[in-house]
Amino acid sequence: MSESGRSILIVGGGTAGWLSAAYLAKALALRDNAHLTITLLESPDIGTIGVGEGTFPTIRETLRFLDIDEGQFIREASATFKQGILFSDWLHAPSPAKRHRYFHPFEAPFYSEDTSLVPYWLLQDEQSRPSFAEAVTIQNKVAGAKRGPKRPDEPAFDGPLNYAYHVDAASLARLLRERALSLGVRHITGEVADVSLRPDGAIAEVRTTAGAGFTADLYVDCTGFRSELIGKALESPFRSVRDTLFTNRALTCRVGYEDPDTPIESYTLATAHAAGWTWDIGLAGARGIGCVYSSDHLDDDQALAVLRDYVGPQFNEGAVKTIGFDVGYREQQWVKNCVAIGLSAGFLEPLEATGLVLIEAAVGMVAELFPHHGPVDAPARRFSKLMSARFDSIVKFLKLHYCLSQRDEAFWRDNVAASTVPDELKDLLEQWRYRPPGRFDFILDVESFAFFNYQYILYGMGFRTDLSAGRSDFPKVAAAQKLFERIQAFGDKAARDLPSHRTLISQMSVAA
Ligand code: FAD
Repeated sequence: MSESGRSILIVGGGTAGWLSAAYLAKALALRDNAHLTITLLESPDIGTIGVGEGTFPTIRETLRFLDIDEGQFIREASATFKQGILFSDWLHAPSPAKRHRYFHPFEAPFYSEDTSLVPYWLLQDEQSRPSFAEAVTIQNKVAGAKRGPKRPDEPAFDGPLNYAYHVDAASLARLLRERALSLGVRHITGEVADVSLRPDGAIAEVRTTAGAGFTADLYVDCTGFRSELIGKALESPFRSVRDTLFTNRALTCRVGYEDPDTPIESYTLATAHAAGWTWDIGLAGARGIGCVYSSDHLDDDQALAVLRDYVGPQFNEGAVKTIGFDVGYREQQWVKNCVAIGLSAGFLEPLEATGLVLIEAAVGMVAELFPHHGPVDAPARRFSKLMSARFDSIVKFLKLHYCLSQRDEAFWRDNVAASTVPDELKDLLEQWRYRPPGRFDFILDVESFAFFNYQYILYGMGFRTDLSAGRSDFPKVAAAQKLFERIQAFGDKAARDLPSHRTLISQMSVAA
């Protein structure tokens, strides 16, 4: 493009490509901006990864920013509400006598103006107190009663409880595509066959199999695991984190509801198995199920048996998709005139659904750091540093789910081995024996999860923070007790008053 303007070429039309296109078009006011063009080039033949059913509450802000209507989104992306994740069997392998479960809600713990309830819960009798999530939020009860997090007439993307969605990934990409096109993004189909470099190592041109050449000021690599630009052409090294997070394969399938009125859960059910875990997500028309595992600990046939056992009589082996993935990320995610967003930048297994969160973080940062003139690679180092730190912080959070397990299979024993736990997490765990996680444990600009997310996992997994020697530092026992009781009463009322999740979905998906 001429000196007075900028051009962006996004390669790849999965969720990363279309979300980047729509977001950048909106953030950089493409329609009214004579100095900017955004083009998305995607292969008509190479498919998208097509998973990505769980999301995180940040998606509400993204959809709102893109002026997408919540009802339209629910209707067109087959979306349902997600209020958190129910973890089953992560602490112990299930036995007829014992099945351990805990909830990680999106809602932060209740607190009064000057009192955190966390120490008061920690000081209660372990045998008789409710679970942490039940004690400090009402979301446990609401989701447990199969109620939605809001009423249909509440403002879009808002409600009394924090929430995200479960979505059909392919439909979401279609919706984002429509939005991007309406915001002025040009769409071209073609498969990149060659990427030529300038003498300084920046991309000079991408060329398709049909011989068409494309040039741009900034290239956005959204080519998924193929990582055509940042990986293959620019050779930005990939940092594997497999020594910490072991899973590297998934078998996925869809299972229909037996009855159209079957209640839909508003949480992801994450059930641990001998060498990984299985997700179970209630979409509007079917459940999405995936068995995630480590190929060093379970072979494909064994994983198929785990999935078959989980699904039961409705299992259809012919419809199972196998996906392999490398866990890790590129430390340099912006190199010269190319920035990677989505799976081309990295991936850290599906636990806690961080794929889309990382895309949102990256594209938000590109929009903000985008050099409107001057060298296009000016933000490269800053961007790469912040994204690497964000990936690292997620690695730490995901590992927390595994390293507190008491399961006795090889996969779980290896997960607990100190040599596989990042030093920073070991250090925090040591501190959290004497005080609960707090905001100063984290550098907020690079965190996707807050200190209370850590509290839910820690205390859900039975971790002990021993405050007993400092009991007198927490004198507001009566006030805290009152608040605990109010939370229980609110929870009972909300579980009665909020609409059922299925009713909420059907009411909200009616076209206006
Ligand atoms: P893709 O979907 O792979 O898209 C790549 C695009 O690039 C396609 O359009 C393709 O045609 C194009 N392309 C590739 N090569 C070329 C070429 N040479 N020329 C032109 N075009 C090309 N995320 C979540 O947020 N929640 C979840 O619950 C979740 N679960 C997951 C489960 C699994 C097992 C996996 C593997 C991932 C999961 N993710 C999840 C991550 C999520 O799927 C991705 O972050 C998201 O789909 C974005 O993918 P993408 O757009 O980067 O890549």
